[in-house]
Amino acid sequence: MDNYFKINPDQKGFFNEYGGMFVPPELEVEMEKITDAYYSISKSHEFISELRDIRKHFQGRPTPVYFCKRLSNELGGRIYLKREDLNHTGAHKLNHCMGEALLAKYLGKKKLIAETGAGQHGVALATAAAYFGLECEIHMGEVDIVKEHPNVVRMKILGAKVVPATHGLKTLKEAVDSAFQAYLQDPVTTIYCIGSVVGPHPFPMMVRDFQRVVGIEAKEQFQEMTGELPDNVVACVGGGSNAMGIFTAFLGDSECRLIGVEPAGRSFKPGDHAATITYGKPGIIHGFRCYLLQDDKGEPAPVYSIASGLDYPGVGPEHSMLKDSGRVEYTSATDRECLDAFFELSKKEGIIPALESAHALAHAMKLAKENSRQSILVNMSGRGDKDIDFVMEHYGKDYGIDTD
Ligand SMILES: *Cc1c(COP(=O)(O)O)cnc(C)c1O
Repeated sequence: MDNYFKINPDQKGFFNEYGGMFVPPELEVEMEKITDAYYSISKSHEFISELRDIRKHFQGRPTPVYFCKRLSNELGGRIYLKREDLNHTGAHKLNHCMGEALLAKYLGKKKLIAETGAGQHGVALATAAAYFGLECEIHMGEVDIVKEHPNVVRMKILGAKVVPATHGLKTLKEAVDSAFQAYLQDPVTTIYCIGSVVGPHPFPMMVRDFQRVVGIEAKEQFQEMTGELPDNVVACVGGGSNAMGIFTAFLGDSECRLIGVEPAGRSFKPGDHAATITYGKPGIIHGFRCYLLQDDKGEPAPVYSIASGLDYPGVGPEHSMLKDSGRVEYTSATDRECLDAFFELSKKEGIIPALESAHALAHAMKLAKENSRQSILVNMSGRGDKDIDFVMEHYGKDYGIDTD
């Protein structure tokens, strides 16, 4: 296990057959520069102590682990939440954004470019850009711009430029296409700060490393609270960064079941979900190899999820490897199960979860019902403030809430 992080990824950025760097030659040069810089800078005392300081004083880390007493009493089992919703800006994404922006500063970059789905990564990166005094350009699908309006406003207030992606389904995949194009125009003074453990090497590795703090903290906190390790660790999987963040701390503990939850959407038909590992097969997207939802021609297939942060047809290469090795189990939760969990946690615990995180919670609630002796640690990847208007407009009535 000690060796795991040294050999994954390998020198060329592969996690077994997944990952790598499938990019045009001019981008390959830049990726190699970033890789070299990351290896030397991230090990320096200066970088580590600056990042540690930022996490403590700016982000508000460590975030707590919380025992859901009322929910657990009702379901059986013991459900604990790692409260990444309490991380500054309301989700785990700031963990890698501050790391990426700090690296950009050391590299002398002037501008950060990124895509965003639910707007969480855009807000987190715009926050990091403001902190370091860098320019910031966020690409976002037109559909998501409407759906996630409050986050669009936040990005603009933070000083970022929001660029709409107007092709295709106008959601996350198109936003990544658009941001890639912008980055290709000027890879020397700008840097692409990818929003998950996806993209060409070194991004899946860097983002994972910056997210490891979640698992390191959670393991220590859980043991301090209970004197044991959790029986199950559950996280939602879009690209897979919050899941890698928490899973990495437990990979060597074979008694902990690690479970990634994908969005099963409104049906199992193509275009109605984004359950990549469940239904996909290996292919290449956005410069890396992974499980991929693809059409007959091998092109990335249209995807859908009620949670904008999960609707991506690919998934992190490390998850693809961990799926094949069997160390992590992957399952899915439907839109409806996600909504049930969203309202249940709000009413029973006073915590409104992000729709993304509610997928993980939905599966945790199932496990708790099935086995009342199990403990379940859920990565509560973000808070649901961004989702409340959308949920109320479309589903408030179903849950008996007066929507007028
Ligand atoms: C973006 C996002 C996700 C999905 O991204 P991962 O890389 O799979 O973690 C999950 N939860 C929240 C709150 C998000 O903002």
